[in-house]
Amino acid sequence: MSGYADVALRLTKVRETLPQGVRLVAVSKFHPVEALEAAYSAGQRAFGESHEQELSRKQAVLPGDIEWHFIGHLQTNKVKYIAPYISMIDAVDSFKLLKEINKQAARHGRVIKVLLELHIAEEATKYGFTPDGLRRMLDEGGWRQLENVEICGLMAMATNTDDENRIRQDFNLAASLFDEVKAKYFADAGGFCERSWGMSGDYKIAVGCRSTMVRIGTAVFGEREY
Ligand SMILES: *Cc1c(COP(=O)(O)O)cnc(C)c1O
Repeated sequence: MSGYADVALRLTKVRETLPQGVRLVAVSKFHPVEALEAAYSAGQRAFGESHEQELSRKQAVLPGDIEWHFIGHLQTNKVKYIAPYISMIDAVDSFKLLKEINKQAARHGRVIKVLLELHIAEEATKYGFTPDGLRRMLDEGGWRQLENVEICGLMAMATNTDDENRIRQDFNLAASLFDEVKAKYFADAGGFCERSWGMSGDYKIAVGCRSTMVRIGTAVFGEREY
């Protein structure tokens, strides 16, 4: 008997609320393989994990057509373990990490898709580029030489608050930075098109602020057991 029947139900509910063109990354961190299998059976293919060992353990036993996203803070010394199979690294927060992803992707003859993480929220995370830090990194131009990474857009988290106006303000800032960076550095890059914001508590606001990719855990899998 499966204890995960409700996963499929919740997944359908979340999907029904997403406008066309917004992709769902099911954030499965801390949930057992059986929960992911239930979501997979319900048609979900993109999964997000935030710990390298947990991800590698799940990737080894789950179907090969899953699109794995690394959504958390990734240490440079862990890149090599996920480089053979990772689809997208959603939270690149330094040029050093970008270079290491490029190096490990090249070793495997791959191009790894990445998003650049913005730090715009009050205290939600200590990681990510500030708006000026992002501009500086892009101005320096070293990223243009990295042929084994494809920068596909920006990722952001809103301030952890009940104040919807503050959340909307954070996401709107991310959206305007996307437009700025797209026009200045990626005008010719068709692949630079993703705006990844929105989690269980704020994804409805995020899709109103032009999100193209929501990362949802709790609303699909229930509360995490740490
Ligand atoms: C855990 C996590 C999520 C999902 O959070 P929920 O509130 O469970 O939907 C999304 N993005 C990142 C970066 C996370 O670490």
